[in-house]
Amino acid sequence: MTALDAARALLVEFTGREPDGIWSAPGRVNLIGEHTDYNDGFVLPFAIEQRTYAAVVRNGTGELRVRSTFADDLVVAGVDDLDTVFPTPPGSTPRVPEWSAYVLGVAWALRARCPESATPGLDIAIASDVPVGAGLSSSAAIEGAVAVALNDRWELGLDAVALAQAGRRAENEAVGAPTGIMDQMASMLGRADAATFLDCRSLEHRSVPTGFAAAGLEVLVIDTRVQHAHSTGGYRERHAACELGARSLGVASLRDLTVHDLPRAAQLLDADVFRRVRHVVTENQRVLDTVAALTEQGPRAIGELLTASHSSMRDDFEISVPELDTAVDTARAAGALGARMTGGGFGGSAIALVSRDDAPAVTVSVRARFAAAGFRPPTIFPVSPSVGPRRDC
Ligand code: ADP
Ligand code: MG
Repeated sequence: MTALDAARALLVEFTGREPDGIWSAPGRVNLIGEHTDYNDGFVLPFAIEQRTYAAVVRNGTGELRVRSTFADDLVVAGVDDLDTVFPTPPGSTPRVPEWSAYVLGVAWALRARCPESATPGLDIAIASDVPVGAGLSSSAAIEGAVAVALNDRWELGLDAVALAQAGRRAENEAVGAPTGIMDQMASMLGRADAATFLDCRSLEHRSVPTGFAAAGLEVLVIDTRVQHAHSTGGYRERHAACELGARSLGVASLRDLTVHDLPRAAQLLDADVFRRVRHVVTENQRVLDTVAALTEQGPRAIGELLTASHSSMRDDFEISVPELDTAVDTARAAGALGARMTGGGFGGSAIALVSRDDAPAVTVSVRARFAAAGFRPPTIFPVSPSVGPRRDC
């Protein structure tokens, strides 16, 4: 059964009624630009074909009643009571089951944004084919699907950026996850055969055609299926090092530096902080270079930039792990044009840019190498740049 059908079936099961409509939003993969978002920098993600669906029917009450194929519970909240549920106090868990905080949190954020709008009760059923926790942002996909559904049903008239901001607010303040806005923007602004170049400071954005399919290329996701225990602490430490580096160099954020500032930074900063700074500064430049290469030379020209991004995260930012390095090195040895870890690090997924003809050999090589190293078998699958949110029926 497709995820679209699963959302409809779940709604019928718990309400006995057919949906008034089904809306969906995609997951995303970050092509390049890692740990640059919270430094006000540049990112280049693309929305993927895998999507999350929200089937919705009016229930004639003042309540939101929410279910997902991801969990067993039916979660009910009065629309007017959402202000007593959220925000979730920093450091604590949401007052509702965590998965439902993504849904109800979006409703809460949208109501805060549009306090004058009528917001009648709805039954909502969620289903998805975005793998959860693989670094493909199932969180932005569920937020996006709910945001576009509510924007329509509640006649809010908000644009894509406003809906992305509501998703981020839900994730930060309702779920309690301190993430940037890249994922929501990538999902909301997805276009077929294009990536989204986003300036995380101004939120200016534009579509950059990737041309992968026309060039006979494919992006493979290699999900290592490991998440190391120190990922949360490690993320926080990198965040703090970036802030310290910016403060020490007298800039508002690392975005304000270019590669020409690095010699001075090397003199002023201690060695560890300098390497964190160098990753962010060079990564911002690599994003700009990738956009230029895609535009002027085509997608085959970006392979080395992807690989350089990985080396920087491995050596300077120190957020890679043996599984990710093995995925990258093996994919390249088997013919990938470039490869890098993607996402926060300490586990999760790598991506490899490969000729479509080489994809089977790369897949077989990576699997074999993982087996030889005693790693868990990775999950490997292609992703392609796809459209953003839409109404499916
Ligand atoms: P990622 O976004 O990388 O997949 P996150 O930890 O940011 O991982 O988000 C995953 C969480 O989002 C899940 O643990 C769950 O709480 C919520 N979620 C994602 N997809 C769904 C879904 N289809 N139904 C309910 N909750 C979901
Ligand atoms: Mg997420």
